[in-house]
Amino acid sequence: YYEQVQQAERLKMIANLTAAVAHEIRNPVTVVRGFLQLYQQDPAFDVSDKNKFKLMIDELNTVEHITSQFLTLSKPNGDLKPERVDVKDVLHSVTSLLSSYAMLSDNHIDIDVEEDCTILINTIEFKQLLMNLIKNAVEASEAGMSVSVTARRSRHYIEIRIIDQGSGMSEDELKLLGTPFYSLKSNGTGLGLMICFNIVEKYGGEIHYHSLKGHGTTVTVRFLAVNEK
Ligand code: ADP
Ligand code: MG
Repeated sequence: YYEQVQQAERLKMIANLTAAVAHEIRNPVTVVRGFLQLYQQDPAFDVSDKNKFKLMIDELNTVEHITSQFLTLSKPNGDLKPERVDVKDVLHSVTSLLSSYAMLSDNHIDIDVEEDCTILINTIEFKQLLMNLIKNAVEASEAGMSVSVTARRSRHYIEIRIIDQGSGMSEDELKLLGTPFYSLKSNGTGLGLMICFNIVEKYGGEIHYHSLKGHGTTVTVRFLAVNEK
């Protein structure tokens, strides 16, 4: 009997892990598909636009990385090392990736980032974190709304804010954020924020939600600032 319970636990763990991998692969795939759909619809699309292709290839590299990461189950996250990351660079690349996704639902992403915002984090995990938070903000927004992303230095910290004017959340809904598989979306997995909270904790950061049902949500993420080289 005991072995049966153990086996059931193991299967449950594998199922959870599989769902988490699928979720993380889905984000970059959504972005690449978004680009391709826009191109398909745009008769003036310029095939020689190398920059767009670079963005898509970067996303596919992330998929490859995540996949190989999970294939090496003996050493999970083994080679995701913290590095000096310029918040401005990463925010620009993440928002340009997500802007086509936002355009599909007639939303816009505004970005306002101060110079000299450097933190210690793994770039792939930082991108994963921002992608999930910004994607949630876009998904909560009605057509025609904007999502605003800001980053600034506040004393010893870098504060990143993602602000939407979308559906907002009640107190009870806020309490459930980060719970695996909690999702109010028809096609949601409810794994994005679990992953985000893990990444923030791993690098000693903080994440706060401020939300009002029917009015929108502000997510604040704080990491210790490091000095420029
Ligand atoms: P998923 O996006 O797959 O549903 P997440 O873990 O990313 O999973 O989010 C869980 C739930 O939290 C969402 O389904 C949504 O109900 C709620 N949520 C997250 N971010 C926001 C936001 N900015 N505005 C409103 N609701 C949000
Ligand atoms: Mg999500």
